[in-house]
Amino acid sequence: MPKHPAVFLDRDGTIIEDNEYISNTSDVTFFPYTFKVLKLLQKHFLLFVITNQSGISKGLTTESDVQKVNKYITEILKAKGITIFDTFYCPHKNEDNCICKKPKPHFINKAAQLYNVDLTKSFIIGDHPSDVECGINAGVTPIYILSGHGNKHKDELGFNSKICNNLSDASKFIMSTI
Ligand SMILES: [Mg+2]
Ligand SMILES: [Zn+2]
Repeated sequence: MPKHPAVFLDRDGTIIEDNEYISNTSDVTFFPYTFKVLKLLQKHFLLFVITNQSGISKGLTTESDVQKVNKYITEILKAKGITIFDTFYCPHKNEDNCICKKPKPHFINKAAQLYNVDLTKSFIIGDHPSDVECGINAGVTPIYILSGHGNKHKDELGFNSKICNNLSDASKFIMSTI
């Protein structure tokens, strides 16, 4: 069975505005280009969301609120004809030393196993250096974007990465490679 290329999407600052620790669906704001971009990408790639939600471990939000928000995002996208194959969230903070917080490649590897993903033909898009590092750790091509917190953390990017303004520009880069 042939393996599928995938795009692993960060959530906050990448497909929706980074409104800090989101507990309510009313705080979810999609970027204006998100729907169009994901519709295009899903013609060629399986789409996944991988998100660090340390607000759970810090007591700033709850696991059920994060699940509710994630479900809402998936349902809005579904209504627009976009399929997110799976959403993975890490509820931990750094001090928890978990196995799943980006930059650890745990969730990418899990998706690869569950959905037969070809990592060598896959990408990760995110607005934090840990997204880039996660991609490198997993063997997928990282794209750092300047939306969300991207501009703020740009100088901390200690890895070679393609840099794009936002998800829209990142998708143009991806499409130019296939
Ligand atoms: Mg982010
Ligand atoms: Zn974790």
